[in-house]
Amino acid sequence: MTPDPFDLAAQFASRPAPAPRGDEEGTSPAADEIAYICDACGEEIVVPADLAGGASQEYVEDCPVCCRPNLLTVTVGLDGDVRCEARPE
Ligand SMILES: [Zn+2]
Repeated sequence: MTPDPFDLAAQFASRPAPAPRGDEEGTSPAADEIAYICDACGEEIVVPADLAGGASQEYVEDCPVCCRPNLLTVTVGLDGDVRCEARPE
């Protein structure tokens, strides 16, 4: 018995197309705010994250509660997790 070459070709032609990739999950809404504890007054401060400056940045932000400056260290993990630490300036 010889395999029918036409039948073989039809089998290849009818292979299902590759499924669309479902890995475009870069729009997680969780990473656009950062929270830190003010070093001077102990309040938790939530500010919009400005991550355009890179995955690791330091800047000074005045506490909206007590107006004292905090030196914020913001780091973004590989999974998009944003961490923020505040120290006295
Ligand atoms: Zn404060």
